[in-house]
Amino acid sequence: MADRLELQAKLKLLSHTYAVQLPEKLRQLEQTWDILSQDAWDDEGYRKLHRMVHSLSGSGKTFGFAALSEAAHALEAYLKPIGAAKMPFTAGQREQLDSLLAVLKQAGSEQSVTHGSESMAVAASLEHASLARRVFVVEDDVEQAAELKIQLSYFGYDVVVFHTTDDFKRFMQNDTTGGVVLMDINFPGDTQGGIHIMNELQQGRAAPLSVIFLSAETGLDFRLAAVRAGGVAYINKPVNIGTLIDKMDELTSTHVATAYRVLIVDDSVNLTEYYTAVLEQAGMSVRVVNDPLMALKPLFEFAPDLILIDMYMPGCNGMELAKIIRQINDFISIPIVFLSAEVNQDKQLLAIGMGGDDFLTKPIQPQHLVSSVASRIKRSLVLRSFMVRDSLTGLLNHTAIKDQLFREMGRAKRQGKPLVFAMIDIDHFKLVNDGYGHPAGDRVIKSLSRLLKQRLREHDLVGRYGGEEFAVILVDADGPSAIKILDNIRNDFAQLRHLAGNQEFSVTFSAGIADIAHYAEASRLTDAADKALYKAKHAGRNQVVLADGKPH
Ligand code: GH3
Ligand code: MG
Ligand code: MG
Repeated sequence: MADRLELQAKLKLLSHTYAVQLPEKLRQLEQTWDILSQDAWDDEGYRKLHRMVHSLSGSGKTFGFAALSEAAHALEAYLKPIGAAKMPFTAGQREQLDSLLAVLKQAGSEQSVTHGSESMAVAASLEHASLARRVFVVEDDVEQAAELKIQLSYFGYDVVVFHTTDDFKRFMQNDTTGGVVLMDINFPGDTQGGIHIMNELQQGRAAPLSVIFLSAETGLDFRLAAVRAGGVAYINKPVNIGTLIDKMDELTSTHVATAYRVLIVDDSVNLTEYYTAVLEQAGMSVRVVNDPLMALKPLFEFAPDLILIDMYMPGCNGMELAKIIRQINDFISIPIVFLSAEVNQDKQLLAIGMGGDDFLTKPIQPQHLVSSVASRIKRSLVLRSFMVRDSLTGLLNHTAIKDQLFREMGRAKRQGKPLVFAMIDIDHFKLVNDGYGHPAGDRVIKSLSRLLKQRLREHDLVGRYGGEEFAVILVDADGPSAIKILDNIRNDFAQLRHLAGNQEFSVTFSAGIADIAHYAEASRLTDAADKALYKAKHAGRNQVVLADGKPH
């Protein structure tokens, strides 16, 4: 709720700022026209005028000036053939342009009064995007529900239990914050009660509820009905808690753990502020570039997941910028979305041909902006994850974690922040495989990867370096604090009880840490961590060793 009010206030303020600046913009537009209309054909002057009109057409409606957008659009349409002919304005054209400008000026004083309530609705509709780690368990079996609650709480989820679909329905009628639904299917009196209630609740929602169905039924008919009721997963009972947590983490992490990074390149300061407010409210992290010629540096530094580019900008247009970005290897596959008031289909297609992935027409509805951006990023991250993720653990693979190390070291150096690299290796892992079998060994690897992901902070990076070796990048941590963090994890890991058949066993790991304060180059840093790990092994294993910075 606080977030909603905050966004609403922000949007109002942005509309207000726009309204305050508008008279000056219109004055400049008029002045540009005055100069232009007197001279012989002036290509640069014409382009300036066109840009100003185009920008008003794209921005007006967003800030409550719908009539302004329309008037600017009409003016732009009239200007276009004149710009193509490059002939001085005729008296008739001048007269027509004067009157179109008068309409535009008039429209500039008509901000819609309903705009305040619109931004309220916008804020409300965006709230679903900030999904918390909240879970609704709807299960008539009281014991199973209680068990799920305990297990999920252990992994940091906030669980609310309902024993009947009616209780859940009543609750959802008043709930605005949302969460993931864990829904049983078979309820007393209705063998598909869970599916029926979800069908009912999904009706008329701006964004569907994420629901995971739990059922003993294995048939395709049940699975199909579940998918149709918005099911994002279908887990067979008895529920394997590991599978469930993996799915839950996947569903909630996109909203909470990793903020999508969006780079916006648009010369309009008002609009970029507006888009920023909308995307940030949806939990995304945004960087803005108002001068397209300055776009490259933030591109490398910020490493966005998606780029939004305006089509018409002074200095370098959106299509040219997209071409440039596509010529850089690192950004060959990054989604590029054009934002523009351009409604011409041919131009849109051309832009997509230039390496754009999509075209959003201004003014764009905030919900539409959020959902287009989020779904594009989600899809591209899944594709990218096949290249950078390890399939057993879902952690970054060897190449990816090394790439990240370069990137993070660069960032740490620029910001003058500490950074630590750690290598972790499971102790006597051969004995685990030999004694309990390879599948049991795999489960140990997964449990360590899960523990690392859970215990490290959101910005830290974890990779699977090799078989039973892991690499960790602790951002914003120095050597001594990294020792503490990893030693706690080491201690907890040693306490875990692993199961193989009816045998129980425990496993330990050793870790070597190196700090960029002592090793400023990536190769020296990894080398030092590796040597520290070797020391830990030789000193008896089950310990964490920090590289001392001395040359060997
Ligand atoms: P140390 O304490 O010195 O690290 O002893 P260790 O037995 O762990 O040493 P080593 O690195 O020689 O052995 C690692 C073993 O891990 C060898 C390999 O068969 C096993 N391994 C590698 N990848 C996997 C995997 O994905 N799953 C399983 N179950 N075992 C793996
Ligand atoms: Mg080992
Ligand atoms: Mg090893």
